[in-house]
Amino acid sequence: MNREDCLRLDAADPLAPLRAEFTVPDGLYLDGNSLGVLPRRTPAKIADLVERQWGEGLIASWNTEGWFERSQSLGDRVAPLIGAGPGEVVVCDSTSVNLFKTLAAALRLRPGRRVIVVERDTFPTDLYIAEGVAGLFPGVRMRELADGIDEDVAVVLLSHTDYRTGAVHDMKAVTQEAHRHGALALWDLCHSAGALPVDLTGAEADFAVGCTYKYLNAGPGAPAFLYAAARHHEAADQPLTGWFGHSRPFDFVPGYAPAQGITRFLAGTPALVAMAAVDAGLEIFESVDLAEVRAKSLAMTDLFIELTAGLPGVELVTPVPHERRGSQVSLRHPDAHAIVQALIARGVVGDFRAPDVMRFGFTPLYLRHVDVFDAAEALSEVIRDGAHRDPRFSARGKVT
Ligand SMILES: *Cc1c(COP(=O)(O)O)cnc(C)c1O
Repeated sequence: MNREDCLRLDAADPLAPLRAEFTVPDGLYLDGNSLGVLPRRTPAKIADLVERQWGEGLIASWNTEGWFERSQSLGDRVAPLIGAGPGEVVVCDSTSVNLFKTLAAALRLRPGRRVIVVERDTFPTDLYIAEGVAGLFPGVRMRELADGIDEDVAVVLLSHTDYRTGAVHDMKAVTQEAHRHGALALWDLCHSAGALPVDLTGAEADFAVGCTYKYLNAGPGAPAFLYAAARHHEAADQPLTGWFGHSRPFDFVPGYAPAQGITRFLAGTPALVAMAAVDAGLEIFESVDLAEVRAKSLAMTDLFIELTAGLPGVELVTPVPHERRGSQVSLRHPDAHAIVQALIARGVVGDFRAPDVMRFGFTPLYLRHVDVFDAAEALSEVIRDGAHRDPRFSARGKVT
């Protein structure tokens, strides 16, 4: 594959027109798996929410603009991206908070069982939340997935696509294994939603959470989503029992009574301004075929893997089989941090994940094959010339 081949692929790419939907920065931005770029339609959406709906409509907008049901209506638009049905998803809170709610609900659905299965190398907030939830349930502890699932397990909490390696779990197989032992499966979809087709219904997943600011491009700190399979709604009991999850919030009665359906997973007033950006991010996906996204994503990661194979000191971390690969390529190198900094200085933005991983995210909606080619060239050049040995590339920021 040379640069000309890449330009030809771009000319024939059915997703190519979507790039115009985004404010794509100069240089090469390969960090859309950490913070997606700004959709062009987002500022106007937020301005409308702020100036017209809030500024002019004020309190009436709760009824006239659908604010009160916004968590559910946005959830219904996330649903097709993750293989959920209508009424099974809400957009609210952060991924961490939604993990807390679903994990606690799962433990309460499996009373007497004392184990939460996790992976030690998963995104740390998932472990921290699991630790916090376990602390509230006497006797509950965490166990490594590698140590197996048995009748003591209440819930298996896994990232579908691993943030560091880009490895993808077989959601259906793991969920079936959990169910075979009477346990529930809770999936973190942060690195899957909008990156590849997900089929929660087909996998018979019990719960899922995920963020909207990575592949769904809803902006920093945008509200997350929460999925609970309809079969669990009636019995599900989550502990953040705020008024938005109450069956009659505007009766202002003492005593909590959960709403029917997915609404019982809400806690307090939703972040409507931030949700205008979720609305914008999701609108773009409404005209997108996820099968095309997946095909382009695999073509891009295949290309990057091929072009970076054999670079001195570099080891591929991301699985090669397509069904086991997300939409990123992670490479290990002892000088990973300095190399990422040297790349950023050249306008090629990837990121570093401790201790020695360079992560390159490939977002098919706004990246081109030629970008993949140029990024691989830049990486080869930095490593070949030792540009990363410059001392200015060794300083670490708070956010890597
Ligand atoms: C990004 C990410 C999160 C983020 O959680 P927040 O509550 O939004 O900070 C959680 N889990 C995984 C796997 C992630 O990749």
